Amino acid sequence: MEYKFFEAVEKSFDKAAAYTNWDPGILEQIKQCNAVYRMFFPVKIGDKIEVIKAYRVQHSHHKTPCKGGIRFAPSVNLDEVMALAALMTFKCAIVNVPFGGAKGGITIDPKKYTPYELEKITRRYTSELIKKNFIGPGTDVPAPDYGTGEREMAWILDTYMSMRPGEIDALGCVTGKPVSQGGVRGRREATGLGVFYGIREVCHMEEIMSRLKLKMGVEGKTVVVQGLGNVGYHAAKFFREGGAKVIALAEYEGAIINPDGLNEEEVFQHRKKTGSILNFPGATNLPGSGDALELECDILIPAALENVINGKNAPKVKARIIGEAANGPLTPEADEIFAKKGTLVIPDMYLNAGGVTVSYFEWLKNLSHVRYGRMDKRFTENMNTHILNQIEGLTGKKVTQKEKDFISHGADEVDLVYSGLEDTMIAATREIMDAWKANPKIPDMRTAAYVVAINKVGTSYAELGIFP
Ligand code: GLU
Repeated sequence: MEYKFFEAVEKSFDKAAAYTNWDPGILEQIKQCNAVYRMFFPVKIGDKIEVIKAYRVQHSHHKTPCKGGIRFAPSVNLDEVMALAALMTFKCAIVNVPFGGAKGGITIDPKKYTPYELEKITRRYTSELIKKNFIGPGTDVPAPDYGTGEREMAWILDTYMSMRPGEIDALGCVTGKPVSQGGVRGRREATGLGVFYGIREVCHMEEIMSRLKLKMGVEGKTVVVQGLGNVGYHAAKFFREGGAKVIALAEYEGAIINPDGLNEEEVFQHRKKTGSILNFPGATNLPGSGDALELECDILIPAALENVINGKNAPKVKARIIGEAANGPLTPEADEIFAKKGTLVIPDMYLNAGGVTVSYFEWLKNLSHVRYGRMDKRFTENMNTHILNQIEGLTGKKVTQKEKDFISHGADEVDLVYSGLEDTMIAATREIMDAWKANPKIPDMRTAAYVVAINKVGTSYAELGIFP
C-alpha cells in the first residue's frame, strides 16, 4: 500500500511513539496540525483574473514563532503542506531550534509566470497571511522552500513592512532573505552544508561504518545526488570538496554518470546553457531521472521531492547509505525494505535541518539588529593578541607577523554561521545515535530521530501544562 504524505508521517510518528512513555492524549496533540489555513485569492494576470489556491499550516504551537518554508509548485496540496509542517516541528526539536513547525505553499507552476506576476502572487499571499495573523517575527516566520528563494523572501518582507509600518522587529518576519536585506551569510548553502556535516559525522562512527562494511570518513566515497536545486547543488559541492566522488547527478530530464566524478558547478552551467543536464562532456546519459537512484554507490542523496523511493524501486537501490536531503523522499514501505537490507537511512527531519538552523541564526540577528562578528570583533582581536603575547612569554618562541594576523582576525559572520551549524549537526547526530543505542529494539535511525523529537515536544507540553 502507498500512503499519502501526511499519513506516512503519522505512520512514522506512531512507530516511534511506541518507544516513548507519553500519555496518548499528548501524543495525539503532538501529531495533529494545530491550525490549517487554506485560501483562494484573485490575481490579475494580463487581462484575466486568476484564482490562486494557497496554504499555510501551523503544525505546532508548543514553541512560537512557528517556522517553515513556502513552496511554489503545481503539485502543492493540503496533504503535502500538512506533512511538511509536521516534519518542521520534529526538525526544529531535533536541532534545538525553539520554534514550532509550519509550512506554506502556493499551487502554481512558477515557470509559467513572469517575475512581475510572481511578485504580485507572492505579495497577495503575504497580505492574506498578515490579515489572519499567520506571519510575524513572533507568530510565524516563513522561509524558502522548493520553487522559492531570496527574491520571494524580499517581496514578503517588503509587503510585511508596508502593511505593518514601524514594527521594530519586522526584519524577523521571514528568513532566507538576501544578505543586503537582513539575511545572514551562509543561509543559501546551509541545507546542503548541513547534509554534508550530518553524513560526515555518521561516516566517522566506527560501529556504523563496520556494520555497513564501509571505510571510515567521506574521502573516496561514491555519491549520487538526485536534484540539482539549491540543496542538491550544495550537497554535491561539499561532498566533492570533502574528497568524495559525485559519480552521478539527476534532474527530471534524466541523469548523467561519470565514474571519475562530476563537478556540480560545471554541470549547472551546462544545464543553464543547454536547458538539460544530459550530454554533459565526458559523462554518460541515463534516460530516466529515477534510474540514478538504482546506481551502485556508497551514498545516495535524494534532494528533490517526496515519495521518489517507494515499495517498487527500493529493492533495486544499491546504496549503503541514503541521506534524505529532500523532505519525505522515502515511503514507509521503502523504510521497511531498507531496514531489512541493512541500508542506513539518515532521515530528512534531522539531515536537512541545516536550513532552519541557519534561519534561526538569521532571525536572532534580525531581532538583535546587529551583524554577527560586528560586536565581538574588537574583543576577539584584543583577546587573541593578549593570548599570543602570553604564548610568546611562556614559550620564548616568537610568533610571526603572518601567524599573528591570521589568529587575531576576529571571526566573521560566515565563520560563525558555519561553525554553529557544524556543532548543531554533530550534536544532533550523536543524540539520535545515542537514543538508538539506548534501545536496540528501535528498528532504524528515523524512528530514533522521532523518539528524540517526540520526547522534546512532549516535555514542552508536560512543563507548560494544558490551558485552561
Ligand atoms: N524550507 C526549509 C525546510 O524545509 C527551511 C525552513 C526554514 O528555514 O524555516 O527545512
